[in-house]
Amino acid sequence: MPQAVAGPEIERLIQLLARMPGLGPRSARRAALQLIKKRETLLAPLADAMRVASERIVVCQTCGNVDTRDPCTICCDEGRDPAILVVVEDVSDLWALERSGAVTARYHVLGGVLSALDGVRPEHLNLDSLVARAAEPAMREIILALNATVDGQTTAHYVTESLKAHNLKVTRLAHGVPVGGELDYLDEGTLTAAIRSRTPF
Ligand code: ZN
Repeated sequence: MPQAVAGPEIERLIQLLARMPGLGPRSARRAALQLIKKRETLLAPLADAMRVASERIVVCQTCGNVDTRDPCTICCDEGRDPAILVVVEDVSDLWALERSGAVTARYHVLGGVLSALDGVRPEHLNLDSLVARAAEPAMREIILALNATVDGQTTAHYVTESLKAHNLKVTRLAHGVPVGGELDYLDEGTLTAAIRSRTPF
């Protein structure tokens, strides 16, 4: 155990920062030092923003997104197609898709994927609310934007089965060659998926 280099308040700051994804103890120390050095311009506004966020953040009861309002900003956006739902595993996936600007529909956040190994069963996910939304008369298409992992695909199959009763188009994201990708660098699984999901040119 390395010796503490600062008082308990700073050590606590470092320990908390080290819990952030992508930050180890070393990066956490660097981040903490940067915050301390920029106390007025960074540390204080960050502390403020975090306090406000922790007080106001709510989970959207409609789609499972996080926001400071319920229904969330996306669910309230009249400009989005109400007939299409994009199903994602987590809010991070929703944010990633929003960054692309390619989605003009609304979302449904499952809050995880089915996993026998981790003991995640259907009742642990926001599946009932998805089936309820899918049953709305205006709904036409459900896009399964789930990760191309074994658990993601198992979940995709389960969701498809759950939606069978409704007369909906269920689609999934294409699997294959990434934009700018070179075939020689791709693994066999990706190449097989790319050949199988080829499209007319
Ligand atoms: Zn929402």
